[in-house]
Amino acid sequence: MELIDGKKVSLAIQEEVAIEVRTLIANGGKQPHLAAILVGNDGGSETYVANKIKACERVGFKSTLLRLPGNVTEEKLLETIEQLNTNKDVDGFIVQLPLPKHINEHKVLEAVIPQKDVDGFHPVNVGRMVLDLPAYISATPFGIVQLLDKYNIPTAGKNCVVIGRSHIVGSPMSILLAKNAKVGNCTVTLCHSKTVDLKSHTLNADIIICALGKPEFLKADMVRQGAVVIDVGTTRVPSTESKTGFVLKGDVKFDEVSPKCSFITPVPGGVGPMTIASLIKNTLLAAKKEIYK
Ligand code: NAP
Repeated sequence: MELIDGKKVSLAIQEEVAIEVRTLIANGGKQPHLAAILVGNDGGSETYVANKIKACERVGFKSTLLRLPGNVTEEKLLETIEQLNTNKDVDGFIVQLPLPKHINEHKVLEAVIPQKDVDGFHPVNVGRMVLDLPAYISATPFGIVQLLDKYNIPTAGKNCVVIGRSHIVGSPMSILLAKNAKVGNCTVTLCHSKTVDLKSHTLNADIIICALGKPEFLKADMVRQGAVVIDVGTTRVPSTESKTGFVLKGDVKFDEVSPKCSFITPVPGGVGPMTIASLIKNTLLAAKKEIYK
């Protein structure tokens, strides 16, 4: 069994970006600038945004955090998005999810202009990704593709089961792995809560991407010997043993599944850091105007 070190790969990618940023600036270019809108004060979102800002500092990007209260109106949020859309200094920006219930998430994500949508959530970027056109690819699936690539994990002709069909992880992941690409050419089965006999699918899988948000859901008897298991799940589970009062749990029962795997990602330290590396990469693409020329 080989442990996939997402933290190491993420830092290596960020180092490559840092070198490119230094060259860009030395040649008279503008410092890339990522902005983030954070609505409310959800603990998880605070941590994710703080990590994204830390990564910006690491690679030499400028970053701006715009905080809005949890009771902000949809109108005010849309106004803030419009300001970032038209701010010439901002290359890309994100609206940290989840949003409070009174705000229409689709409306908000569609308000971000595709050229600055470095999270890759806008329908134009999703559509372009599906059609093999240059696009910002949703950071988590993009990160997983890069992990499979860095670890030279063969994907062509492999049976891949993706558990979870969310718009930001499972669905784009299934599309990317089915593409005719270096990391791709899988035969993909996309499973969800209505899937009947999930185990019959996972037992047939060479690669399992677990993205359902149910701690320790994937057990050893659901995985065949030699499978590659990518754990996307990050659920905060209350714990008296941790200073924070919680521990982060993946969707895979790691202790029992890992001995059966050829490769597996840990939680934390697997997919999470790669999501950040991908966002940073997308922002560099935005600053260089490489997707929308
Ligand atoms: P989500 O929007 O809640 O979607 C969960 C998906 O799992 C849904 O498609 C749901 O099916 C499916 N599902 C739920 N229970 C199931 C079951 N028993 N069997 C099969 N499928 C089931 O979640 P998400 O946003 O994709 O996130 C998933 C997990 O990844 C969460 O833990 C989240 O925190 C984590 N995450 C991590 C990162 C990272 O950077 N590491 C990034 C994003 C998300 P239905 O569609 O039928 O409801």
